[in-house]
Amino acid sequence: MLSQKRLFGTNGIRGVANKELTPMTAIKIGSAIGTFFKHGKLIVGFDARTSGPMLAKAVVSGLNATGCDVLLAGMAPTPTLQYAVKKHKTAGAVIITASHNPPEYNGIKVIWKDGIEISREQEIEIEEIYFDEKMRYAEWNKLGTTRDLPGVIDDYVETIKTHVNTARIAEKNYHVVVDAANSVGSLAAPFLLRDLGCRVTTINANIDGTFPGRLPEPRPENLQQLASTVKAVGADLGVAFDGDADRSVFVDEKGEIHWGDKTFGLVEKYFLIENKGEKIVTPVSSSSLVKDIADAYSGELVWTKVGSVTVSQTMKRLKAKLGGEENGGIFYGPHNAVRDGAMATALILDIMARTNEKLSELLAELPIYFMAKGKIECPEELKEKALQNLIIQFKNLNINTIDGVKIWFDDKSAILVRPSGTEPIYRLYAEAKTQERASKLISQYSLKLKKTISRLG
Ligand code: MG
Repeated sequence: MLSQKRLFGTNGIRGVANKELTPMTAIKIGSAIGTFFKHGKLIVGFDARTSGPMLAKAVVSGLNATGCDVLLAGMAPTPTLQYAVKKHKTAGAVIITASHNPPEYNGIKVIWKDGIEISREQEIEIEEIYFDEKMRYAEWNKLGTTRDLPGVIDDYVETIKTHVNTARIAEKNYHVVVDAANSVGSLAAPFLLRDLGCRVTTINANIDGTFPGRLPEPRPENLQQLASTVKAVGADLGVAFDGDADRSVFVDEKGEIHWGDKTFGLVEKYFLIENKGEKIVTPVSSSSLVKDIADAYSGELVWTKVGSVTVSQTMKRLKAKLGGEENGGIFYGPHNAVRDGAMATALILDIMARTNEKLSELLAELPIYFMAKGKIECPEELKEKALQNLIIQFKNLNINTIDGVKIWFDDKSAILVRPSGTEPIYRLYAEAKTQERASKLISQYSLKLKKTISRLG
């Protein structure tokens, strides 16, 4: 993961703790980040991973060595720390987290003063400082200081409450099951829900960096315990977070798990009913249901490249108030233009209370699409060539080439053909009004792609 000239991947720096990401590396990365921020004040926090405190101390050491003052917020959800940056008006933050990655991983995320992850251009500046050893260490009397920053979680919970109708939610006495993945999701959302008058049942709520309950990625196969618990206790809603609680996946009162496209579509619908004409930002990998809802409720849809940082940066640039991803990321701009699991949970409850409908009923009212997926091997060196070739082949169709190539057809079906950023493969995602059509698109376009690759190879 930490290559010769590149530190940052799609979501910060990631690596196996004490192998790729050692305390020695973390001190050096901290020094490079400190040099980049030029003696500013930074918040530092971490998720529940076993290596969190060790790596945080090393990063803080590097930051102090370059003259940066540190406010140590401790263990907290990523969106809590991102909100704290805005509240305390610091130059930014450094968050020790590997989000949804397996337990042995950890990572370092750098946040700018607006609460959003830094841009790729800024990452390159940090990489240059790191690889060219351009760290500027402070004199003994100009070293940075470190002090604790208590109360970030309380501030965060209080702020989320200002964005929803708390009285209306409280009247309903909802019962919510929270699956916190044994990580920081247990530190904020259960208390927020209790403040919202909900009865809260938690599973995997004890902090344990070995993630004994389930893997930190909130994929349906990891959420069976949540689904069965919701049914068993007769709850109104279930929510599962990823390892740093910025992504949230919801389970309805029948115990059915819903992927992020749908819950985002629901939030989008009720947001647009109150905010006609607003821009909705989503990666090109999202379902057409997001577009259908934008069309039906007078929204303006903006497609982006895949990746949460791109969604955040685009929202900021366009002053958009709502963004979402198919993997359970909901970005609510009036709070913070980043994905935020607790904020998303409050928004879903607000919609349930406002409509007096159950989650399964609300989701059943949205457009229905069937999905199919595929993957085709492609050598790294042919990826770009193959993409250019595909774009030429499909140029007379209704396409978008912002990230891979997405084609929309007249029968409301669509396919995205996109090279993986991390593996020597192409991924294909199709959706259609019938399962048969979606599967057929995958087989047709897999064949076209295979032929293209073999011609080039
Ligand atoms: Mg995450």
